[in-house]
Amino acid sequence: MRSARAIVCILALLPTAALADARDDLAGAARAFDEAALRLSDDNAKPTSVHKWMAPIRLSFDNPGAAPNLVELTRRSVKAIAAEAGVVVVDLETRDTTANFIVYFDENGTNGKSGYCFAQSWWKSWALSHGELRVNPTRIRDIDRCATHESLHAFGFNSHPHAADSVLSYTYHGRRTLSPLDVNLIHTLYDARLTPGLKPAPASQLACRILGERMGSSPSDIDAVCRDRKGPPS
Ligand SMILES: [Zn+2]
Repeated sequence: MRSARAIVCILALLPTAALADARDDLAGAARAFDEAALRLSDDNAKPTSVHKWMAPIRLSFDNPGAAPNLVELTRRSVKAIAAEAGVVVVDLETRDTTANFIVYFDENGTNGKSGYCFAQSWWKSWALSHGELRVNPTRIRDIDRCATHESLHAFGFNSHPHAADSVLSYTYHGRRTLSPLDVNLIHTLYDARLTPGLKPAPASQLACRILGERMGSSPSDIDAVCRDRKGPPS
């Protein structure tokens, strides 16, 4: 009799636990979006509005001869993100002056720190208009992580969701390519409903709802997790 009751309890508890996990998963993904896409940078945690590419990327390499073995790896990293984002990539010749996305192979890095990779982006009216990657060819141990991580920065994810299983996190050093969460984050940022210039609080709420749709969350979980989001803490 006692064991039968115990089984009933376990059966009753399992769905509750699963629901809690699903809600936690959505909350974690929404937090990762806020931290990655709605902050100016790690050095400046000020909340920022949505910014993303709205036009094709015109990709050129400044000095491919400096690391000929890394050209296609870097190009693939950019194109893998663009494919998820639905952004067209046009391949241009070396130093094409019409390029808006330029890759430099730079052993010193922009700020002169050995081993650093670096990305910068510029936007007009919240639409990204120029991106630069500085890929350090001396960083042999995880050059694929470097190319993907920095490319994500140049696609509008300025900062780092350290608690998430993301190639953007400093905690998950094992991540060298896009994680399933990264794919969800890219699809969310580049969802047409998330318009450039949307302010942090409404962007956070809408991004959360889009993530919930993608993750198959229940309407009650989406409402509970997304309703009162205010964006990343300033
Ligand atoms: Zn970074």
